[in-house]
Amino acid sequence: MTAQIINGKAIADTILNDIKSSIDNRLAKGLRAPALAVILVGDDPASSIYVRNKRLACEKTGIRSLAYDLPASTSEADLLALIAQLNDDEEIDGILVQSPLPAHIEEKKIIETISATKDVDGFHPYNIGRLAVRQPTLRSCTPYGVIRLLQSTGMKLLGLDAVVVGVSNHVGRPMALELLLAGCTVTSCHRHTKDLKANVERADVVVAAVGKPNLVKGEWIKPGAIVIDIGINRLEDGSLCGDIEFAVAKERASWITPVPGGVGPMTVATLMQNTLTALELRKAGPATA
Ligand code: NAP
Repeated sequence: MTAQIINGKAIADTILNDIKSSIDNRLAKGLRAPALAVILVGDDPASSIYVRNKRLACEKTGIRSLAYDLPASTSEADLLALIAQLNDDEEIDGILVQSPLPAHIEEKKIIETISATKDVDGFHPYNIGRLAVRQPTLRSCTPYGVIRLLQSTGMKLLGLDAVVVGVSNHVGRPMALELLLAGCTVTSCHRHTKDLKANVERADVVVAAVGKPNLVKGEWIKPGAIVIDIGINRLEDGSLCGDIEFAVAKERASWITPVPGGVGPMTVATLMQNTLTALELRKAGPATA
């Protein structure tokens, strides 16, 4: 079997077009466009590329993008003060602080200071908690982007055995919660997992989010499985690859995401969706439990 490729770029473009239509409709009714504050601290080259892509997506959709490019020497107190000011600004709907942050700034403190109603990355413990209790509001961008990719295949997820490799707070953990919400039987694998191979071999859905090239061997993939590679690794020759051995996995899976062009564009599209959702939810009033 040769897998069908899940074209994340094309699916993300469709989502961006839909968001643009929704924003055009708002403007036609005399309502304002959503606004996203993007904060970049320092000049990490990879972060600069991610931020540029997010700002380009704002332009494509009509989201107003406010750029806060701060020097690496910015103090934690100054960053917290900027976030507090943006939290209070009624004209700002989303606040994104690009990670990684310089070592002298505690990321956890930053995430928890961003108002949960403006947390368009979906990293705040409140938003992760809402997902855990089956009442998602602002969903973590990459995991929800993966769910949209899985939905695009038309495959029914209910009851499938899903294995997520990687358990980070931003990606692996919310990914497992998303798959649970979708009705999968979910196993999370991490660095202490006794037998990664055996877990992957029985999975109908495999999602890898580790950051180690070819950690998941293609021959482990169960024939017909859906394979989603979140990992992005730059090899010595400058090329990009994921965490799953693509060439071999592709010959066994039913559907597979490429790297690049799979999950990456969906992360940005979901961020745009979250910014529009954040505006609409705030206007609708506080959420009830
Ligand atoms: P991270 O914070 O470094 O987390 C990696 C996770 O993998 C951790 O939970 C780690 O366990 C686990 N791990 C490490 N070695 C392992 C092993 N041998 N077996 C199983 N699990 C192992 O990274 P992240 O932020 O989650 O990102 C993961 C990858 O996804 C990276 O390549 C990143 O660039 C990529 N990414 C892509 C997108 C996108 O849009 N495509 C978005 C975000 C991230 P411990 O917790 O024990 O260390």
